[in-house]
Amino acid sequence: GRPQAPAEAPLISTFAPPTVEVLLPVGLDRALTYAVPEGVAVGPGALVIAPLGRRLELGVVWDGAPPQVDASRLKTLEGVVDAPPLSEAMRRFVDWIAEYTLAPRGQVLRMALRGLDLGAAEPKPKIGVRATGQAPSRRTPARDKALAAASDGRVRAKAELAEAAGVSTSVVDGLLADGALQAATLPPPPRPPQPDPHRPGPPLSDAQASAANALAALAGARRFHVALVDGVTGSGKTEVYLEAVAAALKAGRQALVMAPEIALTGALLDRFADRFGARPAVWHASVGDKRRSAVRRGVASGEIRVVVAARSGLFLPFADLGLIVVDEEHDASYKQEEGVFYNARDMAVLRGRFEQAAVVLASATPSLESRVNAERGRYAKLALPDRFGGRALPRIEAIDMRTAGPPRGQWLAPKLVSAMIQTLAAGEQTLLFLNRRGYAPLTLCRACGHRMKCPNCSAWLVEHRFQARLVCHHCGHTGPTPRSCPSCGTADALVACGPGVERIRDEAQARFPEARIAILSSDLIAGGEALRAELDAIARGDVDIVVGTQMVTKGHNFPNLTLVGAVDADFALGAADPRAGERTFQILEQVAGRAGRGDRPGRALLQTHEPEHPVIKALVAADREGFYRVETAARQAAGMPPFGRLAALIVSGTTRETAEAHARVLARAAPKAEGVRVLGPAEAPLAMVRGRHRIRLLVQAGREVDVPAYLRAWLAAAAAPRGGVRVAVDVDPQSFV
Ligand code: ADP
Ligand code: ZN
Repeated sequence: GRPQAPAEAPLISTFAPPTVEVLLPVGLDRALTYAVPEGVAVGPGALVIAPLGRRLELGVVWDGAPPQVDASRLKTLEGVVDAPPLSEAMRRFVDWIAEYTLAPRGQVLRMALRGLDLGAAEPKPKIGVRATGQAPSRRTPARDKALAAASDGRVRAKAELAEAAGVSTSVVDGLLADGALQAATLPPPPRPPQPDPHRPGPPLSDAQASAANALAALAGARRFHVALVDGVTGSGKTEVYLEAVAAALKAGRQALVMAPEIALTGALLDRFADRFGARPAVWHASVGDKRRSAVRRGVASGEIRVVVAARSGLFLPFADLGLIVVDEEHDASYKQEEGVFYNARDMAVLRGRFEQAAVVLASATPSLESRVNAERGRYAKLALPDRFGGRALPRIEAIDMRTAGPPRGQWLAPKLVSAMIQTLAAGEQTLLFLNRRGYAPLTLCRACGHRMKCPNCSAWLVEHRFQARLVCHHCGHTGPTPRSCPSCGTADALVACGPGVERIRDEAQARFPEARIAILSSDLIAGGEALRAELDAIARGDVDIVVGTQMVTKGHNFPNLTLVGAVDADFALGAADPRAGERTFQILEQVAGRAGRGDRPGRALLQTHEPEHPVIKALVAADREGFYRVETAARQAAGMPPFGRLAALIVSGTTRETAEAHARVLARAAPKAEGVRVLGPAEAPLAMVRGRHRIRLLVQAGREVDVPAYLRAWLAAAAAPRGGVRVAVDVDPQSFV
C-alpha cells in the first residue's frame, strides 16, 4: 500500500511549552529560540514562519529544549505552515552533514527546504459546466450544437465545450444563464500513471539475475544495507538496479535514483519508462520552480514513488524512502565544492542509514573507497565481469606520441587516422575524446610572448573559435578574440597553442571532408533538447565522427560506435593529486567503454606520452583488477584515502597578503594531535579564482582520527579571519585543489 504520512504531524496541545528552538535556512549553525503564540503548539519538524531581523524566514522547529529564558523578551513565531513536517530522519541527516562538513546547519537546512514554495498550494478544483437536461428558452443552431456536444452529461471546461461544439464561449454563457447548462466541479485531471513494479522486465542473464535477486532482497528488507554493483561497461547494470527499484516499490516504499548530469541524459528516463510504464519524476538544477514544488510535495505525500535526480535530490523529504541508487558512483560531479562541501555518494549512504533503506552504488569503475568498503565486508559486492549478450570489451591500445605522434600542428597520430579510415569505410562511427572545451587552451603572441590570461583568475583564457571569443573556464570572464596583441600591439600575431575539441573537429574535418562530424561539448549544446537531438542523430547513425569532452563518457549507448580515440590520455596523470591515477583510469575506461556496445566489437586507441605508466599499462592489458590492486597498495603505503583521511582549508582573500597572513595565523594555531599532520600553507594550484587569492592548508590524518572534530578545535583556537578573508573547509577533498 501507500506509505503513511510521517507520524509526527504538528500536535496541538494546551500544555505546549511557551518557547521552541527554530533552525533557519541561513548561514547560522545554531537554532534560535522563539516564543510560541498562545493556543498554538508545534512539534519538532514543524515548518514555521519566524521573524529574523526585519525579515520573515521559513524555519523548522528543531529538537532540544529551549534554554530557560524569559519568553516575553523573545520574538514570537508568525505562523505555522500547513505542510508535512521535516521528519526526524531528515533532521538528523541535516545535523550530521553539518557536523561532518563544518558547514553551518542553517546552510545545510537550506538544501533540505529547496522546492518549498509557500505560494504554491494544492491546485484548486476548477469549475466547468454540464447539461441539465432542461430545454433552453430559445433555440439557435449554435445553441443546438453546444447542447449536442454536452448531451453526454460529462462536466467540461467552458472553453472545451465551446471548442468541441465549434461555437463561441458566449453561446455557452447564454445557455448557462438560461438554465440549460449548469456549473459543476471539474473532475481532477487524470493523475500521471504510476510506475508499475509488477510489469515484467527483460529476461536477465544469469549474472544479472543473481545480482538482481540479491539487490531485490536488500531493497525489500526495510533495513539499511549498502551494495556495490561492480560491473564492466555494457554489463547491464541499469537493468539490475531497476529490479531493486521494482522491489522497493513492491514493498510500498519510494526509490531515489541519482545519476551525474541527469539534465543531459534522457536515455535513463526512457529506460525507466520502458520498464515501469511511466516516467519517473525528475529533479535537477534546471527543473523550474513550479515543477520543483510539485515534486517536493509529491515525495512528501508519497504520491511520487520514484525520482531520478542529480545530487541535490538527496535532500528531498521522501515520506518513506526504501532505496537510493547512486549510478556511476565514482563520478566526480557527486562532490559539491561550494557552499556545503559534500560528496553525495557518501551522504547517500548516510541517508540510507537514517531511513533504514538500501543503498546501491553502481559503476564500471568504482571509487577505491567503495571497492575497499566492499572488500572489508561493509558493502555487499555484486560483480558483473562480462558484457551483456556475450559482447566483447573493447581492445585498448596505446599510441606512443613520443615516437609515433603526428607532425607538428596536428593532434591525431597516423595510427589513429588509419583506424578512422577503416572505421569510416566499414560504415561505423568513431569517437574522438578530449577533455578540453574550446579551440585552444592557450593563446600567445608570437611577437612578444604575451599569454592571454584571465584578469580574475590564475588561468589562461581559452579560445572558443566558433564564438570568436576568449573565455575563462573558472569564472566565465569572456571577451572577443583580439586582432592584435594587447601587450605589444602587433597585428595578427596571436597564435593558438594546443588543442581543444573544436580544433580536433577542424582537423578531423580537414582529413575527412566527406565525414559528418558532431561535436559534443557542454558549451556548444544549448539545452537538453538540442543535446537530445544530437544524441539521437548519433544513435541513428547520421553522424560518422563524434568529437566530445567528458560529457560523452557518461552512460550513452551508440550501437554503431566501434572506435574510440583518446586524443590526450595523459591529461590528468601528472596532476599533484592523490586520485589522479584513479581518475585517469576511470575516465579512459569509461570512454573506451562507449565502443563496441552493438553487434560489432570495439577498439580504443590512447594517445599517450607515458605508455609505461601503470595506469596506461593496466588499461592496455585489460587488467582492471590489477589496476585496483596496485592503486590500493600505493594509497595504503602513502596513508591516503581510504586508508587515511584528508581535509583542506582554503584561505582566500582579495589580496595575497591578507590571505597569506591569515593562513599563517591558522598554521600557528594548529593543535598537536596524534596521527594528524598539517601541510602548508602553500599557494593553491589555482592561486587566484574570481579575483580571490587562495592559500591552502592540508590535513592528513589516520583513519582513527575524527577529522571534523580536529578541524573544529583548530578553527576555534585561531583568531577569526578579518578584512574580507574567508576560510572554506573541504573534508575528503576530491583533489588537492
Ligand atoms: P551498463 O550500465 O552496465 O553499461 P547497460 O545497462 O546500459 O549497461 O546495458 C548495456 C546494453 O545491454 C544496453 O543496450 C541494454 O539495453 C542491454 N541489456 C542489458 N541487459 C539486458 C537484458 N537483460 N536484456 C536485453 N538487453 C539488455
Ligand atoms: Zn577567470
